Amino acid sequence: MENNLLTRYSEITEKNPREIVLLRGSGCKWRRCTFCDYHLDFSLDEKSNYELNRLELAKVTGRYGKLEVINSGSFVDLDQKTFAFIIDTCINKKIDEIHFECHWMHKDNIPTLRKAFEKHNIITKIKIGVETFDSDYRENILHKGIDVQEPSKIAEHFDEVCLLFGLDGQTLNSMRQDIETGLSYFERVCVNIMVENSTKIKPNNDVIRTFIKELYPIYKDNKRVDILIENTDFGVG
Ligand code: SF4
Repeated sequence: MENNLLTRYSEITEKNPREIVLLRGSGCKWRRCTFCDYHLDFSLDEKSNYELNRLELAKVTGRYGKLEVINSGSFVDLDQKTFAFIIDTCINKKIDEIHFECHWMHKDNIPTLRKAFEKHNIITKIKIGVETFDSDYRENILHKGIDVQEPSKIAEHFDEVCLLFGLDGQTLNSMRQDIETGLSYFERVCVNIMVENSTKIKPNNDVIRTFIKELYPIYKDNKRVDILIENTDFGVG
């Protein structure tokens, strides 16, 4: 399904300032996370993906020297021409740090990606959506498809981690533990708060209130923690 109504370029001015583009690829190959419907932003038409991606990448100025590329899936879903254009954009705009997202199933593609950017002296940071380090909850309720339990094993491949809060069963302690584990093993943690979407997983407002009251004040100024109360808080989506 193509979605032409999304905002696809933005700037994040606080904490780790960077430009961000929401590109379109061939679609998440996992698609089983029970809380997710944003994998619906995809097209199998590579040419039209490239045309759209080129227009969004043309907006990048290089102002912060850092660019985050997301695409409602993993970087492997982007076409080769888009990749070449991302590399050209980084070179032309003097961007020396690039961020991508990736599902666990594609972890073995990461070294090749890192090398492709390293050749141009560009550092690659890869983010994984873990949602919670409680592997039982993560795999049996959220169906994330990460078949290892130890955070250290996940961190061998990934630099940054996304967590998802505001779900039934989560508590002050479980959320605090997730953030602290994320900070111990990863360079940066991104907390997303569950918002109502078309899936059966619904936000739990008591859990969200607990997060906002107890944890938000502790982590809101932490430079290694991004907190997205609305999932469009980065300005894209
Ligand atoms: S891996 Fe990401 S895009 Fe794919 S279903 Fe899960 S949350 Fe959605």
